[in-house]
Parts: sequence; C-alpha cells; structure tokens
Amino acid sequence: MRILFLSSEVAPWSKTGGLADVAGALPAALASLGHEVRVATPGYASVPGEGLAPEGRPLTLSFPFGERTFRFLSTRPVERLTVSFVEEPKSFSRPGLYVERGQEYADNAERFATFAMAALSGAQALGFAADVVHLHDWQAGLAALALKRGYAKTGLSRAKSVFTIHNLAYQGNFPRETVPALGLSWKDFTPEGLEFWHQLSFLKAGLVYADALTTVSPTYAKEIQTREGGFGLDGVLRAHRASLHGILNGVDVREWNPATDELLPARFSARDLGPRAVCREALLSRFGLDAPKGGLPVFGVVGRMVEQKGADLMQQALPAFLEHGARAVVLGTGDARLEEGWRALARRHPKSLAVTVGFDNALAHLIEAGSDFFLMPSRFEPCGLNQMYSLLYGAVPVVRAVGGLEDTVKDLSEADGTGLKFKDPTVEGLRWALGRAVDLFRQPEAFERVRRRGMAQDFSWEAAARKYEAVYRSILPGSQATVR
Ligand code: ADP
Repeated sequence: MRILFLSSEVAPWSKTGGLADVAGALPAALASLGHEVRVATPGYASVPGEGLAPEGRPLTLSFPFGERTFRFLSTRPVERLTVSFVEEPKSFSRPGLYVERGQEYADNAERFATFAMAALSGAQALGFAADVVHLHDWQAGLAALALKRGYAKTGLSRAKSVFTIHNLAYQGNFPRETVPALGLSWKDFTPEGLEFWHQLSFLKAGLVYADALTTVSPTYAKEIQTREGGFGLDGVLRAHRASLHGILNGVDVREWNPATDELLPARFSARDLGPRAVCREALLSRFGLDAPKGGLPVFGVVGRMVEQKGADLMQQALPAFLEHGARAVVLGTGDARLEEGWRALARRHPKSLAVTVGFDNALAHLIEAGSDFFLMPSRFEPCGLNQMYSLLYGAVPVVRAVGGLEDTVKDLSEADGTGLKFKDPTVEGLRWALGRAVDLFRQPEAFERVRRRGMAQDFSWEAAARKYEAVYRSILPGSQATVR
C-alpha cells in the first residue's frame, strides 16, 4: 500500500507531545511491513535543516486569505519512508508550533488549512498516488473534507482516509467567519458537517468525512462515546462507532530502551538492574536533593502541566510524603498557574522536590531511569506514553485507571501486576495510591517483582502497525476485511 501521513508534529524533528512520538514511529513500522509511506508535516523554524533536500518544484495554493507558496523539503530516514516538511515561511517560520508566550497564534486556522492542502497537493504533484491518507488530530482535519468533497483544488483521486484522534480535547474550533475566510462552503457548515455549536471545527471535519476513525487505546475509544468523555462529540462518535477502532500506541524502542539509551549515565536491563542505581543517584545529585529517608521512594513526573494530567492533584497530595522523606523530580510545561504551583512547592521543599519548567528530552529519560515510581494521575488519558516508558525503565507507574492507562498498567492486586491504579480523580484517591506505593516500596522483594514484570512488557510498534494495516484494508475498494 501507499500511505500518506499528515501530522502537525513528528519526532525527532518537532514535538509537543505524544502525537510526535506516534508520527515518528508508526510510519517506520509500516514501512518495515513493506508499505511505501510518506509523512507530510509543517517545516517549523525549529526543525533542523540537516539532511533535508528540496523535492519537486514550488507550488502555490490560492485561498481567500491569500496565496501560499510552498515546497517539500524531504528526507528518507529508512527504506520506503519519506518525511516531507512543508516549507511555507508565512505560516511556519516562527518560534512556536501552535502557541507563543502562552497565546495561540491568531491565524492557526489559515496555517493548518494551508498545511493540509499543501500536504495533499504536494504529494499529488510528486505522483505519490496514496491508497490511504492517514490524518492525525484537528490540524489535519480539513484534508478529510478535501478528499471527500474537493477543497482548494486539492485531492488524491483514489485515496481513502483514516482520521486518528490523539486527544479529543483539542478540537481546532474557530469562529463561523472562518468558513468564508478559508474558502469553505456554507453548505458543509451544518451540525452533520463542520459545525460545532456555531463554530467551525477542524476536528469534526476529520470525524465526519474520514472513511475510518481510530483512537489510541481501546478504553479511550469507549470513553469518548460517553457524555463524560465525549467533549460534546460523543453523539458524532457513537454515530460512527462501526468504523471507530481503539489501537494502543507502541513505544519506539530505538529511543526508549534502557539497555541502549545513550542519554543515561548508565545502561541497565531487567537482567542487570545494578547500574540503575547510578541513574537514581545522578538524578538526585543533579538537583541537589537529599537521599530519601524513612524507607520512602523517589517519585518522577514528566508531562504537560495541565489539569488533564492531574498536576493540581499531585501538588496537593505530594507534600505530606515529601515531609516524611520522599523525594520527587518533576518536568513539564503548561498552564502558567500550574507551573507556578510547582515552583512554589519546590521553594518550600528545596531538598526534597526538584521542578524543571521546560522541555528537556534528556531529563525526561533520566527521570524514567532514576525514579522508583512514576506518577500519572490523569483525569483522562487517550493513551499516554510516559507510563509505558516508565514500565520499561523500571519506574513503577502510579496511574489513574482511565483511557490508555487502564489498558497498559495492571494493578498489583492482580497476580501479574505491573503498577498501581486508583479510580477517583481526587486528592484522596491519589494519596491512597501513593500510600500503597510506599507500602510496596517497603517490601523490596515484592517491589522488584512488580518492577521486573513492567520491564518485560512488549509494547512494540509492529503489533500496532498490523492493526492499522487491517483498518486500511477494511476501507479499500473491494475489501471484505473486517477489523478485529
Ligand atoms: P501527551 O501527548 O498528552 O502530552 P503522552 O504521555 O502521550 O502525553 O506523551 C508525552 C510525550 O512528550 C512523551 O514522549 C514525554 O516524554 C514527552 N514530554 C512531555 N513533556 C515533556 C517535557 N517537558 N520535556 C521532555 N519531554 C516531555
């Protein structure tokens, strides 16, 4: 098959979250199954230029908001995989991906309409006749409409489309005036089409016009069809449930493998856990933290500092444990209020809590390798990657039983438990779970068993890639395939 991916971020070139990891790894896994894959993504100013070469000639798209001239800058990281950056300075030569200094760019609708159309027409101009166009999140949503109805003279004549929801909370909603501003048709601005409560929703374009929908875990696929988890779109998703599949993300073990990880001061595996102590020590000493006391553990946190991730719950539940001798290392960026909450807490507990507000991949690796437990008390979690990294790195996850966390972590009350889960998204719920973590930590043999089971988990992308392959086949003409 020929598969065209549209993703607004792709690791290692651009990343704000898990989407980048998926768009970095899944195409390579599909290519190694024998498919020809091209990934189109914006050429942000922050994308390093080394190894990229122009491909094809510059093309111009005409929109009511103006002309946009772009070209593809491409690279071929592995056989059968091309990654093409849409080089279009008006839209993408700026410091942020979507946001700058806490403010969303005012022209995000124009920017991502340009991205979607440039991706399709650039691939078309190069003769890349995709069988399947795989769209990711709202930034790519208008491409589903373009493929169904035609838009801005783009289209890939035979292609079927798959739209993947990485996080339903991000919808790309814009005022209704955006409809003519982008050159969209009012006839598609209906509740069955692009309209979401009088706004234009890029996400809905993907949900309504794609030939199949996927999301990143089986539990999240169910949750988004409910009122509580549906962000107002549960009705649309229930209407499409026959073509909605939950496929768990994998882990890119080229990057996340403690036995080969060059970002760590020492490498380790389930068979040779000794060197892990070096990572733990390096983590504590890097921030000048005292060694834990009273048989308490080191807790690690990496992730966006937003309510979704339960940052507020952690800020309230952790202090009691820090005061009794636990240590915690926190890394993330997000809401100013929650960032400040962490900073304030660190000022109060300078020897037991280290907080880094920023994006730092090497530190993320060290936290996974040096913590005893990894905390992820999310209110909702489409899949979550960090808890999988923490399982593989021997940081026992403490998670809320929701979405992909439910699907990837087994509570230690089960015979083959790999972590700790709690149900209520409350401070008491988290406190209870942290208390259980401390109890487990005080039984070294039981703790080691849980840790080793986590490290033995297999989250290979190949298994996920085969499931996507089945979804693709199910929508191709003449297909009798069913997706299990
Ligand atoms: P989400 O996509 O909701 O942000 P995930 O757990 O699915 O959450 O993926 C987050 C990804 O981003 C992981 O690879 C994680 O390591 C990384 N990440 C998040 N915040 C930071 C940060 N501040 N520094 C480095 N890596 C981060």
